[in-house]
Amino acid sequence: MELKIYNSLSGEKEIFKPLHENSVGMYVCGPTVYSNVHLGNVRTFMSFDFIYRTLTHLGYNVRYVRNITDAGHLTDDGDVANDRFVKQSRLEKLEPMEIVQKYTVDFHKVLEVFNLLPPTIEPTATGHILEQIELTQDLIAKGFAYESNGSVYFDVLEYNRRGLNYGELSRRNIEELFANTRDLDGQSEKKNPQDFALWKSASPAHIMRWNSPWGEGFPGWHLECTAMSTKYLGEKFDIHGGGMDLKFPHHECEVAQGKACNGTEPVNYWMHANMLTMNGQRMSKSTGNYILPMELVSGSNDFFEKPFHPAVVRFNFMQAHYRSVLDISNEAMIASEKGFQRLMEAMKLLSTTEFKTGTASSFDIKSWKEKCYAALTDDFNSPILISHIFEAVNVIFKLKDEKDTLTSEDLEELKKLMHGFIFDVLGLENIEENNNEKLDKTLQVLIDLRNQARKSRNFDLSDQIRDRLLAEGIELKDGRDGTSYSIS
Ligand code: AMP
Ligand code: ZN
Repeated sequence: MELKIYNSLSGEKEIFKPLHENSVGMYVCGPTVYSNVHLGNVRTFMSFDFIYRTLTHLGYNVRYVRNITDAGHLTDDGDVANDRFVKQSRLEKLEPMEIVQKYTVDFHKVLEVFNLLPPTIEPTATGHILEQIELTQDLIAKGFAYESNGSVYFDVLEYNRRGLNYGELSRRNIEELFANTRDLDGQSEKKNPQDFALWKSASPAHIMRWNSPWGEGFPGWHLECTAMSTKYLGEKFDIHGGGMDLKFPHHECEVAQGKACNGTEPVNYWMHANMLTMNGQRMSKSTGNYILPMELVSGSNDFFEKPFHPAVVRFNFMQAHYRSVLDISNEAMIASEKGFQRLMEAMKLLSTTEFKTGTASSFDIKSWKEKCYAALTDDFNSPILISHIFEAVNVIFKLKDEKDTLTSEDLEELKKLMHGFIFDVLGLENIEENNNEKLDKTLQVLIDLRNQARKSRNFDLSDQIRDRLLAEGIELKDGRDGTSYSIS
């Protein structure tokens, strides 16, 4: 089955042809680690986690690069007051690199809670200053960039003069862009307001600074992604992803930098994930309309009636296509929780019940499998896949009630496919299995404490642990290889 991907560059669904057979190079813009990620950020990273999982499931060998922006992400091309890291470090009275460390750790923790797989490479902007300086030198040498007061800017007009098309990705017209932005004070170092910074000179107050041929400074945000994607995936690679809001100017600038340096489109398929909204408004830190992921999980927030398990949140996100806007609400989460519980119940039945087998069945597993793969390969359509999965859930309940049968081969196939789609591709976790794991760990703690009590000849306490567990139906058994337990 051919994989179709909606390519933002052409505005069409296209058949996916990787540059190298069976391999995919994918770059996704990572977080700017100056504060906690909000739930909206998590949605975008989860969309690409699902895409990564699907590509892997379809048999591709994926090199998945997702960067950490730990320098240079200015709110505009302005001065130090707009450097998010410097601003936050003053606020929290920490070194900028302490801010970076704190929020990188938070980011990783959050993604693990929601069962996102780590990328295969996770480079940082500060680890690639040299590559960014080299790229800037290359752009100056090729006539696409100019120095001004120790800063270096990309010359957008020159780029267009050479027949390249700034605005091709976001479909913006350069004349309109110029008409809409005026340099009000006329004091700018830039030749044109659309020119963007490749390198910024650091004022004395700027703590994050590096040596360069243009004096001490720091790199512009757009350049880091070009530097890191080129280094790990090559001058041209298969997929570049990010949230919809990064299309302009960030990705537009990446296209321009790549084409100016190497004379070729840097990316074959541009993919943009849509936004998470709350109360119909885009989730964003700056407007205050946001919730932190762990606040949703713990229940400590003003928006939701109860806490929700991370797997339920993930299920809710997967019920929307990655290119659709998703509004999160209490009602929608409650509905997702119900659906998720039914799904997990069906999975439990599938793994624990000896269904009666037979040849007369209303369920054609072959065409069901085809439908599921058709959804997955149709631009990663998770909601359609989930609707097919729920057809199978209904069949499983019918099997339980002996209202339907499957042959033993079909039953095995159904188990394998459901497991693959639900756990491997959608990345959902079995809450019950998780709880079992926790129970096991808790019992190991009690067994350790009982052994310690016995060693220190506190037999009163060790017997108490054994007897009280037994009263709860948990029997401890001492053997040659240590203590095991059984639950009645
Ligand atoms: P940032 O750390 O601000 O660069 O954002 C990290 C990622 O989250 C980017 O890909 C953004 O496009 C994405 N993002 C920001 N706000 C939202 C939102 N409300 N919904 C979905 N993705 C978002
Ligand atoms: Zn980027």
